Amino acid sequence: MADGNYLMTRPRVGISSCLLGEEVRYDGGHKRNPVLADILSDQVEWVPVCPEFEIGMDVPREPVRLVGERSAPRMIGEESGRDWTGKMELFCADRVEALSKLEIHGFVLKSRSPSCGLKVPVHDDEGVEAGETSGLFARILREKFPLLPIVEESELEDNKARERWMKKVRTAAIRQTAE
Ligand code: SF4
Repeated sequence: MADGNYLMTRPRVGISSCLLGEEVRYDGGHKRNPVLADILSDQVEWVPVCPEFEIGMDVPREPVRLVGERSAPRMIGEESGRDWTGKMELFCADRVEALSKLEIHGFVLKSRSPSCGLKVPVHDDEGVEAGETSGLFARILREKFPLLPIVEESELEDNKARERWMKKVRTAAIRQTAE
């Protein structure tokens, strides 16, 4: 193992940026999470990402939802029917590639988001919920980093669960420092 450098460097962790209070949601608001923004901010270096804002969606904007096959859902504007799938998938592939160069050690995703959520409703063509799948960004992130400790913010409310996750993040950072 390398010397104690890892003790001086906070793990680098990606996060859905609305969870830190950035006003990037479809309704113009945020989903600031005090556990993340106040408690964990001293322990990690956040790398904020908002896929929808970063591909050029307006704030505020029309909400989108996932439609079609669970294995290959499309991202569709709820009122206009605009299909964002191709643009979002291209962006996600580039963004996770850039994240791999930053050497992140974990990721916190916003639950239930059609971009960021790990378990998101998918609808049939009539708009009826027909199961669950991952948001487009979450799916590509997981494919790129199968071993990364990835959680939704709702999983970190419990102190013990949060400490277990932080242990995995620290282990990933220490392992990388030792390489
Ligand atoms: S959930 Fe993801 S896509 Fe939606 S506002 Fe938050 S960071 Fe952006």
